[in-house]
Amino acid sequence: MAGNWKMYKTPAETTAFFKAFVPLVAAARDREIVIAAPYIDLSAALDATRGSNVEIGAQDVFWEKEGAFTGQISAEMLKAVGAQWVLVGHSERRQYFGETDETVYKRTVAALTAGLKPIVCVGELLADREAGRTNEVLKTQFTGGVAGLTPEQFASIVIAYEPVWAIGTGKTATPQIASDAHACIRELAAAKFGNAAGDALRILYGGSVKPENAKELMSQEQIDGTLVGGASLKPEGFAAIVNF
Ligand code: PEP
Repeated sequence: MAGNWKMYKTPAETTAFFKAFVPLVAAARDREIVIAAPYIDLSAALDATRGSNVEIGAQDVFWEKEGAFTGQISAEMLKAVGAQWVLVGHSERRQYFGETDETVYKRTVAALTAGLKPIVCVGELLADREAGRTNEVLKTQFTGGVAGLTPEQFASIVIAYEPVWAIGTGKTATPQIASDAHACIRELAAAKFGNAAGDALRILYGGSVKPENAKELMSQEQIDGTLVGGASLKPEGFAAIVNF
């Protein structure tokens, strides 16, 4: 159960969030709980969650180890600070910052090489869905973004299906739409890495997940977890989703 804070919260707000949130999810020991925080909040988040069942990730990572890349953060740096997870290829990165399937692949390999667990995001635009191209888009993103991984590397990633038309819009995919897309991704994984890898792959659904719809989404066999944006910003709301 992952949260993506996007560009919200200062370090002080981060500390306050976890002070309230950690006790609310302390009993949820049968699921992994992750918050992907802005870079500047990582230290505060890691301090506030030490010894708890909440893990911390970043929202992006650059593929080079170090060098003259002003403004970038490497996987080694994230690992050194104590982050365990990283989002890769979020649709906002694709839409506003030129992320492509090729750079998704490079970031994913860099994250895995440094020992981080990538959550690789895929999903179609509204125009793709309306044109009946959802599965084609998922195939292109899968092929370019993760099909080049080794089987060992693939076993360490999580995929998040986030239809772009459902992100931050209040429009959640119906459980059926999400299930069909997850089944498509699982089939792509099975075709490339074998049935066992397809079965083992964890696929999160993201797109306007709220406390009110988390249970129904999570009751779908194909949905292994959720990636939550807006509703992960309030401790009580995200805890309600985690504890669905
Ligand atoms: C996200 O940022 O990944 C997301 C799914 O956002 P929201 O939950 O706000 O739609």
